[in-house]
Amino acid sequence: MARYTDAVCRLCRREAQKLFLKGDRCYTDKCAIGRRGYAPGQHGQSRAKVSEYGTQLREKQKAKRYYGLLEKQFRGYFDIASRMKGQTGENLLSLLESRLDNAVYRLGFAMSRPEARQLVNHGHFTVNGRKVNIPSFLLKPGQTIALKEKSRALEKFKGSLEANASRTPPKWLEFDRENYAAKVTGTPQKEDIDLPIEEHLIVELYSK
Ligand code: SF4
Repeated sequence: MARYTDAVCRLCRREAQKLFLKGDRCYTDKCAIGRRGYAPGQHGQSRAKVSEYGTQLREKQKAKRYYGLLEKQFRGYFDIASRMKGQTGENLLSLLESRLDNAVYRLGFAMSRPEARQLVNHGHFTVNGRKVNIPSFLLKPGQTIALKEKSRALEKFKGSLEANASRTPPKWLEFDRENYAAKVTGTPQKEDIDLPIEEHLIVELYSK
């Protein structure tokens, strides 16, 4: 699956917000938002008035970048969300949050979502006992995610779990830290999402 491979700190600078795409570095004073907190490029420091369309576009771009998706993939989630019962914006957030790579990040196995995506790709996780190496795999209530037996001894995972020990897993994931496993107990709700996304702006944008 295609993915963005350019410098990720530019994305944060464009959104004027930390998107936490680089793991440890995001929590240090090396973070580009602290050092150059203006948009990248020649006109990055100019203060142009943002139109209504511009605000909606930025919100969509921000959500897309948080989850590491390209436009076609993101639009695909929106289309599914719009066909589901309930509010499209909330459905969209719930779908994005249900991705396996996101769950791996929320549980603290990875320092960032891009890293979680790579770990899933490398086949370190199982769902209901079967290896799943598809980051976009959508989790459903009743399923169990686990770190593969062989991977449990890796320093990488011990280090990440230790560093993220204070991170509280979302309500829809019941984490059994001792056994490196988590049960999906429900579908993610808007209040479970740790990102400041105004989903109604995305719906307005795509409804034009
Ligand atoms: Fe964004 Fe992290 Fe880079 Fe800071 S260090 S700009 S939060 S990716």
